[in-house]
Amino acid sequence: MIPAPATLGMLGGGQLGRYFVMAAHELGYQVWVLDPDTDSPAGRIADRHLCADYGDEAALAELAKGCAAVTTEFENVPAETLAILAASIPVHPSAAAVSVCQDRIAEKTFLKTHGLPHGPFVEIASLEDLRHAPSDLFPGILKAARLGYDGKGQAVVEDRAAAESAWVALGSVRCILEAKLPLDYEISVVLARGQDGAVRAFPSAENRHRNGILDVSIVPAWQVDQNAASLADTACEVAEKLAGCLKYVGTLGVEFFVSRGQLVVNEMAPRPHNSGHYTLDACGTNQFQQQVRALCGLPLGDAHAHSAAVMVNLLGDLWFEAGQEREPDWNKLLAIPGLSLHLYGKQSPRVGRKMGHFTVIGQDSKQVYAHALKARVILG
Ligand code: ADP
Ligand code: MG
Repeated sequence: MIPAPATLGMLGGGQLGRYFVMAAHELGYQVWVLDPDTDSPAGRIADRHLCADYGDEAALAELAKGCAAVTTEFENVPAETLAILAASIPVHPSAAAVSVCQDRIAEKTFLKTHGLPHGPFVEIASLEDLRHAPSDLFPGILKAARLGYDGKGQAVVEDRAAAESAWVALGSVRCILEAKLPLDYEISVVLARGQDGAVRAFPSAENRHRNGILDVSIVPAWQVDQNAASLADTACEVAEKLAGCLKYVGTLGVEFFVSRGQLVVNEMAPRPHNSGHYTLDACGTNQFQQQVRALCGLPLGDAHAHSAAVMVNLLGDLWFEAGQEREPDWNKLLAIPGLSLHLYGKQSPRVGRKMGHFTVIGQDSKQVYAHALKARVILG
């Protein structure tokens, strides 16, 4: 066990890292953040910001010397970086778990190997591979194996010819070709797994996307259909099994599709997840504090939700009106009972950039949903 006031290391300085810093501070820990950005949301509030690349040997040596343990908020940290750090201090999640989650082919292959539900896919490393891809994968989605997020690095491909030009447009890199599944809806499970193997799953969320970016998360997830409550339970079981197979320690996000009533895993995030932001306002222990607890070997907290919740992402688009940049009028939102506004302190708004979110909580899930939609309309 690592007791406070030890110093913890965080790889990545985005909003997920920022909430980790806040959660660690609440429990009396200090945090050093490694992020190459001079002005990162987490770096700004950290006890120390090491401004260097993730592969910078001097910075890694400093982290290893100054921190009692290290975690990540970002799946694209080179697995090599985690391995280097792990030679001298505890690193959770492990380099092995992160390397599965940061490569879409490794990820789907892992699901297949462990008998976990997933959609049909094939690896594409050349045009030759595309020519031999099974015809039932079309229409499909071609995704770069690495570094994609928020719908970036992927293309819907109607047929083989479209896939060939999409593969070149994606830079002729290693890709995965997945069948485009008919989606009833999408859900996710965020869970924490401790060093002793104990697992606490938060209630699953129904997720709606806009332009490939998470837009709204709704909890409980079973408002859409009668069958969904049992699917939500199954999703928690699958996510727990998956976390066990990965020997995962920390907070894990698992995205699922429900396709023709069947549950399949879409992808995993080896870190807290955007769809788990509602836990900040609706749960006894939030997903970031669970990450701190798992990292330090503390008992995990209660993952029950005390309220229904709807989370709405606030993208940089909102900062622009008729091409002019301006701060949205938050006062309208702040006046709504049951609504919590979260802003990440990012200096430059950009279209599609996650700048903040708001969460509405309450006891009646239908009312919470209606209030959240109204709040969004008010915001314009
Ligand atoms: P990202 O890393 O960008 O979140 P995802 O693989 O989760 O990438 O894809 C983003 C979104 O695209 C998904 O949430 C889903 O709406 C849609 N999508 C992705 N893969 C498929 C698929 N195989 N079939 C249908 N829709 C998909
Ligand atoms: Mg996704």
